[in-house]
Amino acid sequence: MPKPGELTFAVPRGAKKPPRHLADLTPAERRAAVAAIGEKPFRAGQVARHYFARYTDDPAGWTDIPAAAREKLAAELLPELMSVVRHISCDGDTTRKTLWRLFDGTLVESVLMRYPDRVTMCVSSQAGCGMNCPFCATGQAGLDRNLSTAEIVHQIVDGMRALRDGEIPGGPARLSNIVFMGMGEPLANYNRVVGAIRRLTDPEPDGLGLSQRGITVSTVGLVPAMLRFAEEGFACRLAVSLHAPDDELRDTLVPVNTRWKVREVLDAAWEYAERSRRRISIEYALIRDINDQAWRGDLLGRLLKGHRVHVNLIPLNPTPGSKWTASRPEDERAFVAALEAHGVPVTVRDTRGQEIDGACGQLAATER
Ligand code: SAH
Repeated sequence: MPKPGELTFAVPRGAKKPPRHLADLTPAERRAAVAAIGEKPFRAGQVARHYFARYTDDPAGWTDIPAAAREKLAAELLPELMSVVRHISCDGDTTRKTLWRLFDGTLVESVLMRYPDRVTMCVSSQAGCGMNCPFCATGQAGLDRNLSTAEIVHQIVDGMRALRDGEIPGGPARLSNIVFMGMGEPLANYNRVVGAIRRLTDPEPDGLGLSQRGITVSTVGLVPAMLRFAEEGFACRLAVSLHAPDDELRDTLVPVNTRWKVREVLDAAWEYAERSRRRISIEYALIRDINDQAWRGDLLGRLLKGHRVHVNLIPLNPTPGSKWTASRPEDERAFVAALEAHGVPVTVRDTRGQEIDGACGQLAATER
């Protein structure tokens, strides 16, 4: 029997597994792996420091490790996971999308966004997505496969390296926020995503030493996995992609709603808010004449008022061939007003990365 949240969505069979990497392992497992190849266990900590604190996986520079052992340790702990196909930038080069090719040819994308006061990375947790939301580019092609913990973590390690090395205009910077809002449904790849959160937040050199508070996990509303995630005791933020306050419409916009209804999804969200002491972020893509009526704003306000919550309205980014588009400005304003009338905090998200197909819902990882 699968444990709750240990899901249940089909993953293609027979696929080869990504190579096992330092970032897939706990510190104890790393020591065991190093001992198994006849090296001293403390070498695991040295390699971890190179990777998690210096962002280097090139053994040539590991001067604290005897030359004879470097290649052997690198081969055991740091196999090549992915390579950059290309970077594409916009917004004065402060938004950069990276297309990655994984060991088996699978493509995924990540996006780095530099703002005056913070740097956010949007990472993928799966190649493709099985949730099939009709307005989302990633959803159109279906699920390719789950990413391994290390494949998730490496997107971030490389982003931190790029920031340190001044590759993003504005001088060297540190990553402050990570959002699991790239390709995939993070809670459908539960164990790997939780493993990644541990690697991201374990103190250096065991992990990257990032703050849990700076991490946001975004879900379509997989209720058993949300409840299980609440039990982990993280201080991460949970974002719920709601997009409609009523089941009739949400069944069509977020097809998994036919399994877990709006009420159940929100109840699970409040449970998470209680445990984490964090506000829930409600994601709502405003789609012209579909879900943007003031009465729906009012209904949403009624559902959310009095809870620990913040609504993020996202002007729809139309995907190729879509019949839908973003709301008219006056409808957007009326929707905001309807929420504010219930005292529900709301902001409209900026739409960085649009012209590089790097904005919300546009990640499709095609070779063009
Ligand atoms: N599967 C997770 C993570 C993807 S996050 C989730 O659904 O939450 C990406 C966010 O962008 C989600 O809120 C998603 O619903 C939203 N999104 C998808 N396609 C979009 C589009 N075309 N325009 C605006 N937002 C979109």
